[in-house]
Amino acid sequence: MMQMPRRDLSRSNAQFRRAVQRLPLGVSSTFRYWGEDRTIYLAEGKGGRIRDIDGNHYVDYRLGYGPAILGYADNRVDAAARRGMEVGGVFALSTERELAVADRIAKMVPSAELVRFSNSGTEAVMGALRLARAYTGRESYLLVEGGYHGLFDAAMWQADVEGWDAGSNADPEVVPYGKGIPPTVRKLAHLVPMNDMQRLEDTFRRHGDQLAAMLIEPIQGNCCAISARAEYVQLARKLCDQYGVLLIIDEVKTGFRVAKGGVQSLLGVRPDISTFAKAMGNGYPIAVITGRADVMRCFRCGGASHGGTYTAHSVSLAAAEACLRILDETPALATLADYGARLKTGVSSILDARGIVHSYTGHDSMFGLFFAAEPPDNYRAWKTSDYSFYDQMAYFLHDLGVICEPDSREPWFMCEAHGLDPACLTDTLKAVETAVDL
Ligand code: PLP
Repeated sequence: MMQMPRRDLSRSNAQFRRAVQRLPLGVSSTFRYWGEDRTIYLAEGKGGRIRDIDGNHYVDYRLGYGPAILGYADNRVDAAARRGMEVGGVFALSTERELAVADRIAKMVPSAELVRFSNSGTEAVMGALRLARAYTGRESYLLVEGGYHGLFDAAMWQADVEGWDAGSNADPEVVPYGKGIPPTVRKLAHLVPMNDMQRLEDTFRRHGDQLAAMLIEPIQGNCCAISARAEYVQLARKLCDQYGVLLIIDEVKTGFRVAKGGVQSLLGVRPDISTFAKAMGNGYPIAVITGRADVMRCFRCGGASHGGTYTAHSVSLAAAEACLRILDETPALATLADYGARLKTGVSSILDARGIVHSYTGHDSMFGLFFAAEPPDNYRAWKTSDYSFYDQMAYFLHDLGVICEPDSREPWFMCEAHGLDPACLTDTLKAVETAVDL
């Protein structure tokens, strides 16, 4: 591959040099640091596009890691949020709108018998695990390799697939996501590879009676959009019932995106607890813990603690009310999934014409692109795809005005605005064609 001319990032680069004096790595989330000369600072987002402070425009397939389901600065949601602002913010008391939003969620997600609001995916999953522990009286839990459930210590254990020898018979080592996570927490976490039915059964046989919960993202939104086979999640449901373990489906990325009722509705599996966030507020910070009434009622005085100063903030709640109404009552989800399908078809025709072997994972609304004939069905299989080719292509795409994560483990996200702006597709395909020819 040749080197291509880089877009001008001089203002972002200067901003980085100033910001790094005050903000660790010059950013407010470590994942936003892309290196000294590639970290970009944004001026604005509108629809399915963003513009950086140097004036570079991009069609955006990161969408803030998923939340902007309708697109940035959506007038319908922002107008509602402004009305929410007039209400007054937070009171440490409840408002009527909480029930209205909870009713909408219960209508869209059949397993959502009761609903508790939170501010972020991390908080929601942390609350869900606490709830499962309170309900079962057990401490251990099961995670699926490649899953990501937020930044709290219990969730921050992963299979070290990058450092793993794919030719060996040994499992990848289980390691923390970085420093500061106490190894004592690890003793409670068990990990299994996705879609391996035998390993799942063996793990339940050995540890099932100590597990409070099994946590699963059936489309792994932080790991290649690797998808659980329906029979795998059905087996998980059966084993959870058999061993008195609660099944938690983490829908922080899939919820109100892949279907109105989430990935659980596509799989036909009813979890005991599920967590939603991102798409429900089109970018405003809001999340929920939902599930079986008898389990959810463990949130009670003297039971599992849950609260938070900003929980059910009037701005986020008003945004969620408007966003969920749109997702429930208009064809927005069909529009964005249809866009994703057309994008995949277009990308495939470019790659096929050049004999570049590839495959997709996930759902049309959030998919992974792999340079391998078969898409990975667990994290270990990701090692066999040509991910360095992907990473290089992603960097070229940035320079050509299309932004996706420069790491094949992060899916491409679609929003309604992509589907409503025909130029998004043509601009993207032109960039892909140029990038793969470089
Ligand atoms: N769960 C899943 C499946 C996620 O994808 C994420 C974030 O990407 C989280 C939990 C944590 O959510 P947040 O970043 O809002 O804390």
